[in-house]
Amino acid sequence: MDSPRITIFDTTLRDGEQSPGCSMNVQEKVRLARQLDRLGVDVIEAGFPIASDGDFAAVQAVAAAVPRPVIAALARAARHDIERASQALGAAVRPRIHVFLATSDIHLQHKLRISRQQCVDQAAESVRLARTFCDDVEFSPEDATRTEPEFLFQVLEAVIQAGATTLNIPDTVGYTVPAEFGELNRNIRERVRGVEGVTISTHCHNDLGLAVANSLVGVANGARQVECTINGIGERAGNASLEEIVMSLRVRADRYPYQTSVASEELYPTSQLLEEITGIPVQPNKAIIGRNAFAHEAGIHQDGMLKNRLTYEIMTPQSVGVPDSKLVLGKHSGRHALSLRCEQLGYRFERRELDEIYRRFVVLADQIKTVHDHHLLELVREAYGESHRIPPRRVESEQAAAVAAGAEELPRKPFPVGAPSDFSVIGLNTVPASEHNLEQEDYLWGV
Ligand SMILES: [Zn+2]
Repeated sequence: MDSPRITIFDTTLRDGEQSPGCSMNVQEKVRLARQLDRLGVDVIEAGFPIASDGDFAAVQAVAAAVPRPVIAALARAARHDIERASQALGAAVRPRIHVFLATSDIHLQHKLRISRQQCVDQAAESVRLARTFCDDVEFSPEDATRTEPEFLFQVLEAVIQAGATTLNIPDTVGYTVPAEFGELNRNIRERVRGVEGVTISTHCHNDLGLAVANSLVGVANGARQVECTINGIGERAGNASLEEIVMSLRVRADRYPYQTSVASEELYPTSQLLEEITGIPVQPNKAIIGRNAFAHEAGIHQDGMLKNRLTYEIMTPQSVGVPDSKLVLGKHSGRHALSLRCEQLGYRFERRELDEIYRRFVVLADQIKTVHDHHLLELVREAYGESHRIPPRRVESEQAAAVAAGAEELPRKPFPVGAPSDFSVIGLNTVPASEHNLEQEDYLWGV
């Protein structure tokens, strides 16, 4: 039997775009949406049409440009919002209206100033209205994880009866923890009447660094859609990171026997495109797509990696689209490139010694087209054994000295075997961020 399929709902263009500095103009959203299509996500949440004319135009443009995925538009539980969402989705082949209304007492009392009964009625009416425009309607009880469970179930039953097809359970404030969120999903699946006919979805924020863990535990307890963003961008500490969700499901299929339609080798290119568009860099140690995610620095790791990558690598860089080292050495490479690569591999030579390495290198490069790291390491060891190894402590103190001297960048890491040591300099930040900040409204509602 095939393992169950998880719908990947990408909200980079909506929730992600709400994070500070991440706003995108219409063209940029379309560009990213095309890449999300290549990545193979099932749903693209393209925006929040009532929020601004720019958001409305972006949803329209994405819907027209990308026909394959479901295109979702967000709306508050109000007639005008839902109508605007529906209009923006006019060109979508597979439109979805995503309606949200807060359900926690703290939001009902302090933000919406409505009673619980009014909340149930408004949620159901809004979903009923959305269904008059669209067969695919998602409902989110905002702040679900701080909502009294019995009341949450009541709201969910009402919106199912009104025609909702997906029930999204947002951890809006990033408050829940895995065991609790698993229990909530299980209880929804077991106790909400009519739930067997709809899809349960997770939408976790990362305020405690638990967004991915919570999403996975949601899946294990019956959720079949995960809402997430590229690079984990989103309100405050961000959303569950799409690349971490997808690769967790793939690498640990023994524990999470679920499929997604994501082409994992497009993860890194998508991450890079988002970084380029927003100008917001990915932290170097970010899982899956960070600069150091596949860099092996320690000597013992290097040795193990050379013998068998599986010693320290649970997935290959290629599987997520990270290219192998960009620095290709061939017979046209000069002494400098050779010297640099030797240093990256952990060896340093004086001028005269380098001449000898270079002589051997040219002979080899004449015979084989491309000199890979393992060739070079063999060559170096043949010539000088381990005598020119850079001691790790010396490297650290040199880095400290460089920082103290105001160097802009740290010197290269000493032992990045099999690591894409150069990819961080390719294609980054080529678009200035300044032009993005014109459209963003002071409009921080959302799930
Ligand atoms: Zn959110």
